[in-house]
Amino acid sequence: MAIESFNPYTGRVERRFRAFSWAKTERILAQAHRAFGEWRATPFALRSRLMHRAADLLRERQDELARLMALEMGKPVVDGRAEVQKCALTCDYYAEHAEQFLADEEIQTEARRSFISHEPLGVVLAVMPWNFPFWQVVRFAAPALMAGNVGLLKHASNVPQCALALEQIFHDAGFPPATFRTLLIGSDLVGKLIEDDRVQAVTLTGSEPAGAQVAATAGRQIKKTVLELGGSDAFIVLADADLALAAKTAAQARMINAGQSCIAAKRFIVEKPVLREFVAKMKAHLLAFQTGDPLDEATQYGPLARPDLADELTQQVADSVKQGAKVELHGGQSKAGTALFRPTILTRVKPGQRAYAEEFFGPVAIILEAKDADDAIRLANDSRFGLGGSIWTRDVRRGEQLARRVEAGAVFVNSMVKSAPEMPFGGVKKSGYGRELSHLGIREFVNQKSIWVA
Ligand code: NDP
Repeated sequence: MAIESFNPYTGRVERRFRAFSWAKTERILAQAHRAFGEWRATPFALRSRLMHRAADLLRERQDELARLMALEMGKPVVDGRAEVQKCALTCDYYAEHAEQFLADEEIQTEARRSFISHEPLGVVLAVMPWNFPFWQVVRFAAPALMAGNVGLLKHASNVPQCALALEQIFHDAGFPPATFRTLLIGSDLVGKLIEDDRVQAVTLTGSEPAGAQVAATAGRQIKKTVLELGGSDAFIVLADADLALAAKTAAQARMINAGQSCIAAKRFIVEKPVLREFVAKMKAHLLAFQTGDPLDEATQYGPLARPDLADELTQQVADSVKQGAKVELHGGQSKAGTALFRPTILTRVKPGQRAYAEEFFGPVAIILEAKDADDAIRLANDSRFGLGGSIWTRDVRRGEQLARRVEAGAVFVNSMVKSAPEMPFGGVKKSGYGRELSHLGIREFVNQKSIWVA
């Protein structure tokens, strides 16, 4: 894929970049590897000062960064600023907590002293997607750098300017330049990088095929991976739910980033007695969402990030309809080859249809009818994915019990699924493995070393 900023709203190429050669990539890798020796020895106080500075710069530059996202992948500027603010919050969070999260952990044994020491691994490669161009990277970079690792970023080929802007922020914050570098490379060089002994571990956020390929290469090299892949999160509405709030939140949860979020609610599993009313209410909310130029402050959802993603979504909807699903709200593309996709609702979704089995990465709400709460849980778990899920009921105790039965990395009761620096984030099943954020995230890329003093 060409490395270029293609504006999905105007359909114009904004900027083209020449991909780095292997020779250039290898030079940067060598610098990163050398930098690790010094960086791992820096005190937490210094790393923390630099990370707070990165947070300040993110806040200072939020307008500019939001504009870049709007131009490269169609995110409305209002949402772009919120994304950058969350990145700043996460940098501050790890600046404040990393030392405590990685402190020695004493363990009582027969030894005079025995404990776990957390030590950085070295160069970590991050393969990242375009949907949250800053957030996806920062939730890897902030803990990794604070732990004393160095990061190499291979960002999605359609967001090169975001990738360069983030590199600039870490450099301007005072991090030694080789501790965080952006590589403008296609996915063809990723395997070669993983095979290099100087790369110690890999994290990937993106599609299942990309994750499987990267993990297979890393596996052959016996290297640690963290994978954050797709999701088809269930949004379970029980008959006793606050329907007005559930339907409003359902629409918001489906429309995050024009539907292009791994933790967007995708399958709405509703108990039969309230299904019709829920769908009618959700439809009204979806119809109220305003689209327009992502640079416009009033725009609530923009185009999808690339026209091919919209074409693929159209195909998924058309195939599902052929297989028996019913279109309850006609949105979709106005023309093939264009990126705008309006909200769509599919009902009568059944096993054997693409809508039942696949992730729909755009604003299509898939409605499933449940006989009762047990049936809702069964439907929620009848999925290859296991990222997030939410349950809506006025009986919060019951909600909590049901939450334990959902096969997912996170379940929210009476709230949409969201990520927060303090809470672990990640999936089970085909949604991947490993955790980001919180104290668990920072421990993914450290050597948890046992030290025994007799
Ligand atoms: P990809 O998974 O192809 O892209 C994500 C990242 O992986 C990009 O940096 C990409 O590079 C890289 N990549 C792709 N293939 C390989 C490979 N074989 N080896 C190494 N790196 C690779 O996502 P798409 O852009 O194609 O989106 C397709 C689907 O992926 C979406 O419809 C959605 O289902 C899922 N997705 C999930 C995301 C999530 O948040 N979990 C985020 C984005 C997509 P390059 O851009 O150069 O190809």
